[in-house]
Amino acid sequence: MDDVAIVGAGLAGLTLAAALRQAGVPVRVWEQTRTFGTVGAGIQLAPNATRLLHRLGLRDRLRDTAVRPSAIEMRRWDDDAVIARTELGTACERQFGAPYLTVHRADLHEALLGLLPPGTVRPASRCVSVTENDHGATLHFEDGTTDTATLVAGADGIHSAVREGLATDRPRFSGQTIHRALVPAGRVPELLVDPKVVLWLGPDQHAVSYPVADGRLVSFGATVPAATWRTESWTAAGSPGDLAAAYDGWHPQVRRLIDGVDTVSRWALHDRDPVPHWSGRHVTLVGDAAHPMLPFVAQGANQAIEDAIILARCLTETDLSIPEALQRYEQLRRERVDRVHGLSRGNATTFHVDDGAGRRERDDTLAAERRLQEQAWLYGYDAAELPIR
Ligand SMILES: Cc1cc2nc3c(=O)[nH]c(=O)nc-3n(C[C@H](O)[C@H](O)[C@H](O)COP(=O)(O)OP(=O)(O)OC[C@H]3O[C@@H](n4cnc5c(N)ncnc54)[C@H](O)[C@@H]3O)c2cc1C
Repeated sequence: MDDVAIVGAGLAGLTLAAALRQAGVPVRVWEQTRTFGTVGAGIQLAPNATRLLHRLGLRDRLRDTAVRPSAIEMRRWDDDAVIARTELGTACERQFGAPYLTVHRADLHEALLGLLPPGTVRPASRCVSVTENDHGATLHFEDGTTDTATLVAGADGIHSAVREGLATDRPRFSGQTIHRALVPAGRVPELLVDPKVVLWLGPDQHAVSYPVADGRLVSFGATVPAATWRTESWTAAGSPGDLAAAYDGWHPQVRRLIDGVDTVSRWALHDRDPVPHWSGRHVTLVGDAAHPMLPFVAQGANQAIEDAIILARCLTETDLSIPEALQRYEQLRRERVDRVHGLSRGNATTFHVDDGAGRRERDDTLAAERRLQEQAWLYGYDAAELPIR
């Protein structure tokens, strides 16, 4: 492998670039944005991703910038009663050998960027299409320039231009939008005493909070059903007033979080069926480009990081040709990613059950399902040790 071009310097693209570089493969990453700011809000990183990030060299960086929550709790929207609890903290680390962490996306992004030599990422380069030939692929950019490589990896996210050459995008509006904000921790100090990931589940909507940025900020996300809002972008602005109105009557803890919001983004959640094929002969997809999913298992970035490690290993630890290595990568990833995708879709219903007869049944199921030992299939997976040959 001597010539890899990655499209998209998000979490998938940077992890892939770092893994390939550490295996001795030169890479370049084409990114549409001119500068990286503090894009995105919080990301939950489960042991299936943190063990990989530790191996890449980010153990200290994560310790300094992330928060290690003691548990995930699902609570009722009105009285704050705990429905289900997944023990994290030391119990999780003991069981899976790696921590569950919550980070600001910008902190993780900057840490990954720091693993690459200057010049690896080529900004202000929007790829519009990729064409393949027998020996490689050509990238076409918006400004009319091109680049060629023996392998192109599309890590260009949910609206992937690289995916367009492999499959048609068929998003369906889910009927839900999500508001996301970062609240200064000083406005909700009670949430920092014993840091946790908390989900409040109510009829037709739910809210999530957890501290990030070494406990300086609290990441807050709240779904709101909507008939007409359709913008699927992290940078679309929402209104704190609309958010407050949608959560009128919810528990005071949720209201305090909303009162602490200065600015909020609003993102329309679209559902997509699994993408039928991720790879051609010299082109493949990683992360959201390969498996866009609803964010209701908090695993999109975790799965992107796993993809990157497995793809890098298929390319560098086997003697397969590039087309064969891409097929192996897809084979190894497919079942697991489809399972997470299905769970995310299922949670769109589970999280929003109304207060009628089905709620008790839902609560009992969640209480049993969410125990730490039930998460072994998800958190115990080690992409760096998985047999790939
Ligand atoms: C509300 C919400 C909450 C979430 N919470 C979590 C969570 O807690 N845990 C978790 O694991 N996941 C979570 N996710 C999902 C997670 O954010 C994504 O799965 C993850 O960011 C995907 O990474 P990526 O690198 O594939 O895509 P992105 O991070 O979107 O990166 C794509 C990159 O490609 C660039 N790009 C796009 N198009 C082009 C182009 N044509 N040419 C060049 N560059 C291009 C973009 O500018 C960007 O830099 C959440 C998502 C949402 C919406």
